[in-house]
Amino acid sequence: MICDCHVHSRGTENGEGILRAMDKAGIDRICLFAPYRGESDEGQRESTDFMARLVKADPDRILGFAWIEPRLDIAAEETERAIAECGLKGIKMIPHHWYPYDEQIFSVYAKVQELGVPMIFHSGILFGFMDSSRFCRPVHFEALLHFPRVKFALAHMSWPWTDECIATAGRFRAAVRRGESTQQQMYIDITPGTPPAWRADALRKALDYLGDDFLIYGSDCGKSMEPEALLGKLNADLKLFSEELQLSAATQEKILSRNLMRLLE
Ligand SMILES: [Zn+2]
Repeated sequence: MICDCHVHSRGTENGEGILRAMDKAGIDRICLFAPYRGESDEGQRESTDFMARLVKADPDRILGFAWIEPRLDIAAEETERAIAECGLKGIKMIPHHWYPYDEQIFSVYAKVQELGVPMIFHSGILFGFMDSSRFCRPVHFEALLHFPRVKFALAHMSWPWTDECIATAGRFRAAVRRGESTQQQMYIDITPGTPPAWRADALRKALDYLGDDFLIYGSDCGKSMEPEALLGKLNADLKLFSEELQLSAATQEKILSRNLMRLLE
């Protein structure tokens, strides 16, 4: 089974077309992120509504993630609506001129914790949101220790801050060992990110330090109705996993599906 935890909607797709592309590509499930329209309340609601229509095609294969802009006054209520009414399965955010530790957005984390759904955050250098990279450093997400039932993944292995990302996951592991939390909160979405010269090294270090239970495969594909686009990153990763890293079939299965299923539980 192959699951892709990181696919972007552009706001123009239809669910049937995505399912056809997934079938052709041999991909079982995708986490599909809503288009970003979060600059206004109206845009935020439209983005969520679009996803609500799209996932109806098969909500168990197209796992819809609302893209919530936490600085909006409606962010917490929109989070609840996305999950409770619109059939979405998780929340996606990019720290776009807000820090993940800003207490003003804690009400959104509290709502996510109450709803019991996972979050996937952009982390690492950020292309496309002006000068926002400084908001996206992995250690800023340590604030989620205050919400011990929120499970989340940091995308792109936070490149170029891959060591900091791995260490932050270690901080969350320590929270479990210290009895501050009953479960590993932090996962690492290994979506590139990491250019080829970094990728094998970063994955090897993550696996060595954290084991193989918390890495999840993603593609960052933005053309979900095109099977070749969905497969673009997968074949390179499969080759890397098998040949260069020599990962066992069991470890590959965890990265490609089982770990994501646990994040979603
Ligand atoms: Zn992305």
